[in-house]
Amino acid sequence: MTDTVLDRFLRYVVIDTQANGSSTTQPSTEKQKNLGRLLVEELQAIGLRDAHLDEHGYVYATIPSNSDKQVPVICFCSHMDTAPDFTGTGVKPQLIRNYAGGDIVLPGDPSRVIRVSEHPELNNQIGNDIVTTDGTTLLGADDKAGVAEIVAAAKVLVDNPDIRHGTIKILFTTDEEIGRGVDKVDFAKLGAAFAYTMDGETAGTIEDETFSADGVEIAISGVAMHPGFAKGRMENAIKIAGAIIDRLPQDMAPETTEGRQGFVHPTSVSGSMEKATISLIVRDFRNDGLAEKEAMLEKIVRDVISAYPGSTYSFTVKEQYRNMKVVLDRHPEIVENAVEAIRRAGMEPVRGSIRGGTDGSRLSFMGLPCPNIFAGGHAFHSPLEWVSRQDMEKAVKTIVELARVWEERA
Ligand SMILES: [Zn+2]
Repeated sequence: MTDTVLDRFLRYVVIDTQANGSSTTQPSTEKQKNLGRLLVEELQAIGLRDAHLDEHGYVYATIPSNSDKQVPVICFCSHMDTAPDFTGTGVKPQLIRNYAGGDIVLPGDPSRVIRVSEHPELNNQIGNDIVTTDGTTLLGADDKAGVAEIVAAAKVLVDNPDIRHGTIKILFTTDEEIGRGVDKVDFAKLGAAFAYTMDGETAGTIEDETFSADGVEIAISGVAMHPGFAKGRMENAIKIAGAIIDRLPQDMAPETTEGRQGFVHPTSVSGSMEKATISLIVRDFRNDGLAEKEAMLEKIVRDVISAYPGSTYSFTVKEQYRNMKVVLDRHPEIVENAVEAIRRAGMEPVRGSIRGGTDGSRLSFMGLPCPNIFAGGHAFHSPLEWVSRQDMEKAVKTIVELARVWEERA
């Protein structure tokens, strides 16, 4: 057997597909196409005759409908690239069969240890087969676990015609990790009404919410002059910027918030006596919450600068992305069907929200509503990344059940 989800996963992770944010091409690195070409071969071997790689490195394929009903066309999507944060060259996957519990020391760099205290999800994996790296690279379960699960599910659907389903589209993207994963999607060619990314973590979770996100730039013009003659007249823009940063609420920062709380976070500051600039990101699950945080921020700037009569400021807000829940709430069946599929695959569904954005949130606002389903991976973007065979198998089952649920309910 070389076509289980684990076999496929182990084949994919050894192919280096690291994205590069400083490249201007798509794919940002040609090597991403090496995995794309293998996936096209495997999808064609399964019997998906239209499987192909396009010039941006995306893989498209169709599982034809075997139902007489008019079933909405759904798409399963994963990304082939890995994060620039840690090397993906020379991945040596380690398979721990029948995990007995305890910390996992990685053999290629014993200073790297996957500790139960830091990864409590390991407590739910006793007896499972766990894949890790040797500690010198990331694993790339984000998101090759998702890729392997979709290919394995396609084989199940093609080999079992008694499982009724509508037309199902497969999309594998490049450059998700550098924020360009959906830039070149051909929506007409895809022809899907709804989509699911297989890119989440813990088995059983479905995420239908992301942050709403804005960037804010505060530019301060002070009053500059020779320090020897400055008494009562100089207004140093550096000090004004410092006073603004000092007044940011402590309890509204990334390091002090979690769950559904938003934050205000300075990401860079630069300046001279004459001019200073502070860049911030603002995050909240509600668009109202974003506006409130931005109003609070501008009030801080106004208050601080009121002590400097010769200085001025500008306050610019740029929209970055929006919570996809607004879109998904218009089509509640997308998440309801996924929740039912997760249950049928033997798990208790957990609805979650992502403290960040996803390709799915961008797709949702581009007209393709798209929540995020678990793929089973943990500790993304790091040498401690791991995934279990059993969780990947649960994801395969979820995809198959989801195809069935859409057909039943059509
Ligand atoms: Zn991912």
